[in-house]
Amino acid sequence: QDDQFKKVISHAKEYGYVFQSSEIYDGLSAVYDYAQNGAELKKNIRDYWWTAMVQIHDNIVGIDSSIFMHPTTWKASGHVDAFNDPLIDNKDSKKRYRADVLIEDYCAKIETKIDKEIKKAEKRFGDAFNKEEFITTNPRVVGYYENIKTILSRMGRSLENEDLADVKALIEELEIADPVTGSRNWTEVKQFNLMFGTKLGASAESAMDLYLRPETAQGIFANFLNVQKSGRMKIPFGIAQTGKAFRNEIVARQFIFRMREFEQMEMQFFIKPGTQKEWFEHWKEERLKWHLSLGMGEENYRFHDHEKMAHYADAATDIEFKFPFGFKELEGIHSRTDFDLKQHEEYSGKKLQYFDHETKESYTPYVLETSIGLDRMFLAVFSNSLVEEELDNNTTRTVLKLPSVLAPVKAAILPLVKKDGLPEIAQQIQDDLKWDFNVVYDDKDAVGRRYRRQDANGTPFCITVDHDTLEDNTVTIRHRDTMEQTRVKIEDLSKIIKNEVDI
Ligand code: ATP
Repeated sequence: QDDQFKKVISHAKEYGYVFQSSEIYDGLSAVYDYAQNGAELKKNIRDYWWTAMVQIHDNIVGIDSSIFMHPTTWKASGHVDAFNDPLIDNKDSKKRYRADVLIEDYCAKIETKIDKEIKKAEKRFGDAFNKEEFITTNPRVVGYYENIKTILSRMGRSLENEDLADVKALIEELEIADPVTGSRNWTEVKQFNLMFGTKLGASAESAMDLYLRPETAQGIFANFLNVQKSGRMKIPFGIAQTGKAFRNEIVARQFIFRMREFEQMEMQFFIKPGTQKEWFEHWKEERLKWHLSLGMGEENYRFHDHEKMAHYADAATDIEFKFPFGFKELEGIHSRTDFDLKQHEEYSGKKLQYFDHETKESYTPYVLETSIGLDRMFLAVFSNSLVEEELDNNTTRTVLKLPSVLAPVKAAILPLVKKDGLPEIAQQIQDDLKWDFNVVYDDKDAVGRRYRRQDANGTPFCITVDHDTLEDNTVTIRHRDTMEQTRVKIEDLSKIIKNEVDI
């Protein structure tokens, strides 16, 4: 698992997807830059989301609100008082950890033990092995699951009641040690606010304390009435946006899974109070469908319904994805009631109500939210696509099997040799296709090596121009996943590519 994850990170760097930010200065922790291919992949994911959420829904519109907002916004939203993570320092190593993450890691170790038991039993029982039955009846495995459940629920309860001493007691009872040094010498658990502060204004006296937004959602709530009125929106309707958010994560690790500067894709759906259950189910289903439409394997997704919720929510679930380090949250779907709009009404003194022309009544709408991290989605797509394949001739190839619709480069055009007029034809093909697709021209190295390079880069099609092209205007088109090569007319190329890469 670790090895696979390391491969993902190094592949992302080698092929121009993701770089550590400020690498020449030894990097900035948990901040990353998207390189030439990464920026394209990220844009394609964003577009895929935007099309599904905004373009095809008549009743959802998109906005682009600013990162800076009036500071009172964050009092109203609860972020000033309650956007905290429990944090614990190790006295010996002087390292700082998130207490809940340490405990989660401990549980992940137990999960590894469960996996081992399953593998052992699989070997022993062969075809007769029934996994479902094994994990529900084997006393050792059942015991492990019970352990995990008890630990997590106890931690959840302590955090909810802000009983940080109990979180510390749990760490001690479980004999959790510093993951780097092995020391168990901890300080007290403290709360740590995750918002980044900054200042607006030139002089020290008049400067205003601002925060970098920790989520994009509040820009939508604050604009709710403006959008509703100017767009003549009728409930139910949604407002969507994508944009940067910032969190001073204490333990930012796992590459682009948890970053300090990241991008969210959020949609707030405004509904009539009392209809939230139906809409919650509706959006759960819709969002899962969106994920499955990318063809990354049904078995890699699961819902994690929250039993304990933030005070404002009356239902919440996560869509979890199987990352190289296990199932983790990819997207959250929350039924937020009228909490946010009511808070903004209270703090701003302005009414944020909807007037229903048919029933002639005004009310504060309820909100159903879908919120997904763009970078996390990037990691899900990228890590799921990277495979090492054994070929018939006993060699292996590295392929990045990105969903074609998301691939940064859709086709590479390769003249077989750099003479006899082949480069000119290849360049003409590139000039014709580039208006519709992102394509590249590649004439370096033998054609076999060029194929491998494009495989590793995730390019779905390679188009090879050879001497037969001069005779009959046909080229070879090779598909990344099947490696199948077919002879097609140059004039059909655009249709063939479009067929596969269009949303
Ligand atoms: P987590 O429990 O993983 O910290 P969260 O529950 O705080 O996430 P939300 O506040 O619900 O996350 O944010 C919605 C989405 O934004 C998450 O599902 C995730 O995809 C993304 N996200 C949140 N924090 C980060 C981060 N630090 N880096 C990258 N993506 C993030």
